[in-house]
Amino acid sequence: MTDSTLKTVVVLDPETHGYKPSAHNLIASAAEELVEQFAGEDRTAKVLDQDERHRTSDPTKCGRCKKAAETARDDDDHPQTVEPVAS
Ligand SMILES: [Zn+2]
Repeated sequence: MTDSTLKTVVVLDPETHGYKPSAHNLIASAAEELVEQFAGEDRTAKVLDQDERHRTSDPTKCGRCKKAAETARDDDDHPQTVEPVAS
């Protein structure tokens, strides 16, 4: 495990059923924390690996993040079967 791997966090938009960039250039632990935060708000988020540091300061305007978010949508096999977590 290397902690030099940077992560992007994308969050599911319930209106478009697509993922949107939320944060990038995060270390793994920070990314996981963010996903848990979203989960606490009943939102679905994903951690994606980055190849390199993104230069755009705003992740919502980051082209690389947008691309990553589209990929996340593609490999989500069963978007209709996601059930609310019963706690
Ligand atoms: Zn980015």
